[in-house]
Amino acid sequence: MKLYGSIEGGGTKFVCAIGNEQLEVVEKTVFPTTTPEETINEVIRFFKGKNISAIGMGMFGPLENRETHEKYGYITSTPKKGWGDADVVSAIKKELQVPVYFTTDVNSSAYGEYIARNKSVDGLVYYTIGTGIGAGIVLNGEIIGVTGHPEMGHVSVKRHPQDSEFAGVCPYHKDCLEGLASGPTIEARLGIRGEKVPLDHAVFDLLANYIAQACVQVTLTLRPTMIILGGGVMSEKLLAKVKNEFKKVMNNYVEITDLDSYLCLPAVAENGSATLGNFALAKNLL
Ligand code: ZN
Repeated sequence: MKLYGSIEGGGTKFVCAIGNEQLEVVEKTVFPTTTPEETINEVIRFFKGKNISAIGMGMFGPLENRETHEKYGYITSTPKKGWGDADVVSAIKKELQVPVYFTTDVNSSAYGEYIARNKSVDGLVYYTIGTGIGAGIVLNGEIIGVTGHPEMGHVSVKRHPQDSEFAGVCPYHKDCLEGLASGPTIEARLGIRGEKVPLDHAVFDLLANYIAQACVQVTLTLRPTMIILGGGVMSEKLLAKVKNEFKKVMNNYVEITDLDSYLCLPAVAENGSATLGNFALAKNLL
């Protein structure tokens, strides 16, 4: 029986897991993200001697996932201290001697949602709305992106008329999608941490509008089967607001027959989409 490894590397924590042939978690650990060297050593310690056959690794980006590139396996231009230009794959490959599939956490999540739906969705878009905003796309079973991975969290959106005073928080673009609709924008607008703001607060109407604009754009660009909205900011309440805004912004230009099965929360519980995706991507390597 083969075992597969999953590494989900986020800005604040790393989740490592071991999965069986059925891609079920048999062992899991969570530890904080510190320096690249310390964190990667912790990853290696967890997997060492566990007899895994391959690893799927989904990391916060931007990162270099083109295997032919000299910086393959590197995090590239992140504002996260110490992680810019950090090589995160080669030590794992060297120490554990297994093939590693390296991609973004959102690509892993998109793939996990595709697996959770028994590969029945031809065009699946996964957004995470959390500390940042990112997205991954699985089209006809393949993760897309030729010269790199998608960066759909940083697209431009039209300003909401009731949000004209807010500058936006993206260090690169200020008022891109992430700059206007990620979790930290709540605290930046209200001075209260996002988790403490009631879900019926009007700030979520702004977020819903921006997220809906992104969903309309990707609908018009790709015509996918469905769009999944995950991440710590998403909730049933926010999803309902996004659907309303989506209807308004789309204005029946493209017909979506069933909005409830088009815009959805993740199928995998407890933020497990990336882990499932990583197991499957690891299995694909063999
Ligand atoms: Zn941006």
